[in-house]
Amino acid sequence: MAKYIGPVCKLCRREGEKMFLKGARCFTPKCAFEKRGFAPGQHGRTGQGRSGSERASDYARQLRAKQKARRVYGVFERQFRRFYGMALKHRGLTGLNLLQNLEMRFDNIVYRFGLAENRAQARQLVTHGHFCVNGIRTDIPSMLLRPGDVITVRKGSEKTTYFKEMVDVAEKRNCAVWLDRDLKNLTGKVVRVPERAEIDGNLNEQLIVEYYSR
Ligand code: SF4
Repeated sequence: MAKYIGPVCKLCRREGEKMFLKGARCFTPKCAFEKRGFAPGQHGRTGQGRSGSERASDYARQLRAKQKARRVYGVFERQFRRFYGMALKHRGLTGLNLLQNLEMRFDNIVYRFGLAENRAQARQLVTHGHFCVNGIRTDIPSMLLRPGDVITVRKGSEKTTYFKEMVDVAEKRNCAVWLDRDLKNLTGKVVRVPERAEIDGNLNEQLIVEYYSR
């Protein structure tokens, strides 16, 4: 299971907007995008925003839309393409299917429950085996959950400092409306698949479909 271990803030600067990949730090003046809101690299200032400018080619816009979605969900190209392939096979709008599949990832749902500060942390909590899905210990962040699935914190993990303090911390975080959480018992249930309006992140799924349809 590969994961991105490079500088995170550079990704926001590359995409030309804040993607809130770090959590609390993103809302402070320490945010790198606030300090240097241009693309990284030698030509960052001059080349900044090419994909967003009027001169940008269709390809540049499609590529940036795809890269942004990948970075928001912390997925590498190979797996992202696999998710796209799955979205193609399902009925309905491919772009919406893709986003819904990404939202139903186990690590994303832990994040949406408010049990982690960001998706990277949620992924780490999952891979370290702190959660059970329907009573079975599960440590695969890319696993797709379904409506009705119940997530619980594993018995041994409940006693760790992280989860002991979790109730107070998570209360301040929002839980997605399509999920139902019970912080006292450290459990949560997937109620339904999110609708498009409930998926934030300023993503353009139409451009992603165009990118893969070239
Ligand atoms: Fe992006 Fe957050 Fe880093 Fe700011 S602090 S650049 S929003 S990851």
